[in-house]
Amino acid sequence: MTDLTEPAAPEREALEREIHRIGGEIAGAFPSSARHPVRALDARAMELASSDRELKAALFRFVDVVPACRSLDDLARHLRGFLDEVPDAPLPIAAAMRVSNTKAGRTALGAAAASGVKHMAHRFIIGETPSSALGVLRGLWDRGAASSVDLLGEATVTQAEADRYAERCNDALQRLAAAARKWPERPILEHDSAGPLPRANVSVKVSALTPLLRPDAPERGRRDAAQRMRPLLEHAQRLGAHLHIDMESLDSREAVLDLVLELLSEEQFRSGPSAGIVLQAYLRDSPELAATILDWAASSQRTPPLTVRLVKGAYWDHELVQARQHGWSVPVFEVKADCDRNFETLTGTLLRARPNIRVAIASHNLRSVSNAIAYNRLLGGDDSDLELQVLRGLGDELQDALAAKGFRVRTYCPVGDLVAGMAYLVRRLLENTSNESFLSEQARGVPLDQLLAAP
Ligand SMILES: Cc1cc2nc3c(=O)[nH]c(=O)nc-3n(C[C@H](O)[C@H](O)[C@H](O)COP(=O)(O)OP(=O)(O)OC[C@H]3O[C@@H](n4cnc5c(N)ncnc54)[C@H](O)[C@@H]3O)c2cc1C
Repeated sequence: MTDLTEPAAPEREALEREIHRIGGEIAGAFPSSARHPVRALDARAMELASSDRELKAALFRFVDVVPACRSLDDLARHLRGFLDEVPDAPLPIAAAMRVSNTKAGRTALGAAAASGVKHMAHRFIIGETPSSALGVLRGLWDRGAASSVDLLGEATVTQAEADRYAERCNDALQRLAAAARKWPERPILEHDSAGPLPRANVSVKVSALTPLLRPDAPERGRRDAAQRMRPLLEHAQRLGAHLHIDMESLDSREAVLDLVLELLSEEQFRSGPSAGIVLQAYLRDSPELAATILDWAASSQRTPPLTVRLVKGAYWDHELVQARQHGWSVPVFEVKADCDRNFETLTGTLLRARPNIRVAIASHNLRSVSNAIAYNRLLGGDDSDLELQVLRGLGDELQDALAAKGFRVRTYCPVGDLVAGMAYLVRRLLENTSNESFLSEQARGVPLDQLLAAP
């Protein structure tokens, strides 16, 4: 592979042309939105919510309380209470509020609201249990997409909860590995130049594996989580499955990173299971973290290589608000283009670090994805040595387009009940209704050339 650090000006120009060409090709393979009337409806609801800050805040508060509501009447009362705080509610909302003046009206409004939240949740969450999700996972495989199952549940507060989460992960690994054995062969999804890629792939959150994960005592949390993570890694090893450790908010980052690298350095895990970690490009110090991970990968020479999933980061609002509240310096980029540029720089850093690692680029941003594909080719890399990842419900069209173009795409599929899913749902809604998000720009009809422009 060519040893290319930063492309020189003529190469940069050629790269830009390639990014636009590849982006155009992928966009051309997007399924027509006319074939998804429900999606179009969702998009209009999202647009309504993003156009009004007060309404957006009210809806987020509402989504938060849904799991705690005991009846439809209760649900409608909460909805009405939150919407009452919106000064100039748009017409459809104002009409709904009038309906809620009577008990029958409230029941109807409650039923509509409950089914709306459920419908929204089902767009992102593929089933309540791993067994009930197997049909969707097999459907994805048949469409040319691999998957990673995420068991919803975060910020565990008791040891019993952490034990239950670990049991659920073990159960998911078992069921997934058994079911996936019967799936037909899909060479693109199952091999790269480093060797075979497991069909069964589970993503876990360390905050759900221990109630003791605290920034002021990271060692305790790490030790406690290790007791549950080690058997999970052993189980994945026996089954030939992949275990991916998600990254959460900044206050747990050091503990998560140290935990994963320490466990994977143990003698018993030197040659398996396949495992991965996440790098968040919205963090200003992410290049240093990348260096730590890559140094470890180079010195450990573990097989199969560690998979590094590059993301922008899902806790942007949280990190910003928390830092401002405490008067700390803000750890995340505050200008979207700075975050996007860093994502591209890190894409290059990771791609150049192969074969010590496997690279997974997780984004719904056509520019970020096209850049990864173009840069990989510029380095002389094969398309099969680059994995592209999307979230279920947000990246479905991109997933289909990438699969149609012959890329390896993996869809991250949350599994769990509505209560466990609320935090996840709110994060997805926050992202989707942010004006700066790629998906929102795409939905607003920003022209392709602009969407693909260098950040
Ligand atoms: C398969 C998969 C797995 C994931 N796993 C994780 C995980 O383990 N941990 C995690 O944290 N996230 C994870 N994410 C979520 C990811 O971090 C992003 O939130 C999400 O993908 C949106 O980014 P984008 O590139 O698709 O879209 P874009 O619209 O290009 O980017 C949106 C992102 O940009 C950043 N941003 C928004 N506004 C600003 C601003 N003003 N200044 C600077 N930055 C800004 C935020 O990170 C925001 O999420 C995962 C995503 C995928 C697809």
